[in-house]
Amino acid sequence: MTKQEVVTFLERIKANYQSFLQTPYVLEEWYNRLKDYDKEDVYKKFEEHLNGELNSQIPKAHFITRYLTKLSDKGKENNYRVICGNCKKVLLLSEYQKHMERHNSIEYMKIHSYMFKTFDEEKMLKIPDDAFTTFYDQWIEKLYDHLTKKEEKSQSEIEEIQRIENYVMSKAGMEISIN
Ligand SMILES: [Zn+2]
Repeated sequence: MTKQEVVTFLERIKANYQSFLQTPYVLEEWYNRLKDYDKEDVYKKFEEHLNGELNSQIPKAHFITRYLTKLSDKGKENNYRVICGNCKKVLLLSEYQKHMERHNSIEYMKIHSYMFKTFDEEKMLKIPDDAFTTFYDQWIEKLYDHLTKKEEKSQSEIEEIQRIENYVMSKAGMEISIN
């Protein structure tokens, strides 16, 4: 936080705690404590304090910053890179899980590659997320159709139909909870 942001933040404390003293010394003290942190995190923590059990007490700076991540450390988190063991692509750590899910989806389609005229793994890795999700869900529907229409179903096919139903159900559940 900048010094001006800390000044404004102390105003906010003063508005809630009339006995809070704003002296140049207090400002220096708070500024030293808060300067390494993100303004939004600090305000959120203060809101928590206002709604918490100790809200009759003026919050202490060390309490506000406890468990918060310093801005400099956040940078490290965001810039941390990993290499995918499958395709050797260099990824941000935050992208990694989604990327691995993509590999899993492609592997699953590969098992049923008889449903494709051509199967271009490279291309499927490069499609943007939204487009891939749409494509994959449409394909799952086709697969489901294909499997359910089979007259003679093997045990593994019956189980697969069940897995697809679960997948579709959980997806629908997720969408409902977002709305
Ligand atoms: Zn990969």
